[in-house]
Amino acid sequence: MKKAQEQNKPKKYGMVIDLDKCTGCGACMVACMAENNVPFKKDESNKKDSITWMRVYKLTNDEKYPDADICYLPRPCQHCEGQHGHSPCVSVCPATATDYSEETGIVSQIYTRCFGCRYCMAACPYHARYFNWWDPVWPEGMEKMLNPDVSPRMRGIVEKCSFCFHRYQSAMDKAHYEGRRDIEEGEYQTACTQACPAGAITFGDLNNPAHKVHELKKHPDAFRLLERLGTNPKIYYMSNREWVRKAGDNHLMAEKPAKKQH
Ligand code: SF4
Ligand code: SF4
Repeated sequence: MKKAQEQNKPKKYGMVIDLDKCTGCGACMVACMAENNVPFKKDESNKKDSITWMRVYKLTNDEKYPDADICYLPRPCQHCEGQHGHSPCVSVCPATATDYSEETGIVSQIYTRCFGCRYCMAACPYHARYFNWWDPVWPEGMEKMLNPDVSPRMRGIVEKCSFCFHRYQSAMDKAHYEGRRDIEEGEYQTACTQACPAGAITFGDLNNPAHKVHELKKHPDAFRLLERLGTNPKIYYMSNREWVRKAGDNHLMAEKPAKKQH
C-alpha cells in the first residue's frame, strides 16, 4: 500500500554522493563543463569569478598525523525544495528566471529572463550559482565541439547546475516517440554521475522505490548539507566517518542533528 502511494508521488530527482568513495579526481567537474558548455578563462586561478557548476571541495579533520584525515565533497546545485517548492533562489528572483519544476523537482535557470541582479546568488546558502562577468570565449576550433543541446550563456546573467535537464527532455521525447509514458532509471543520468570512475554518485528519482537513490537516502550514514536551514535539498551525502557528517551538516557543538525530511 505504502509502495503504491509512493509510486503515485510526482518525480523528485536527486543524488546520493558517497564521500567515502570519492577520490577527489575532478572527473565530475570536467564532465559537467563539457556537457553544459560551461565557459572558462585562460587563467582559472581566481576562483572568485570562475564558473564551476560542480565543484569538489576538500575537507580536513584538523587533526595531526597519524589521525589526520581528508574528504572530498562534490557540490552541485542542491536543487532545494524548501517548503512546497520555495527554494531560496526561486523565492527571491524578481524575473521568474529561476523555476522549481513540480514535475521533476529540478530547479532550472531560464537564461533569457535573467537580468543579472544576483539576488539568487545572495540567497543561495550553498554558493552554487555563478555570474557571467564576460561573454564566453572558446579556444579556436572548440566552438565546433560545443554541446548543441545546451545554449551557451551571455555576459550579465547567472547560471548553475541543471541536473543536465536537456538529457531528461531527450529521454522523455524518446519514450513518447516509442509510445511509453515514462522513462527507466538508466535512461536519464547526469554527466557527472556517468563520469565518476569511483561510482560515488548515484542519481535517480528519490520518490521511486525502483530507483537506487530511494533506499540509499535512508541509510543511517546519509545526511544533507546545512539541514538546519530547512532548504530541503535533493542532494544526499553518505560517509561512515562522524567528523565528515558533522562538517557537512554544520551542527553547532551542542546541537542535535535536524530531523530528516524524506
Ligand atoms: S543550492 Fe542554491 S541555487 Fe541550488 S536550488 Fe538551492 S538555493 Fe537554489
Ligand atoms: S540574477 Fe537573474 S535569476 Fe538571479 S534573481 Fe536576478 S533575475 Fe533572477
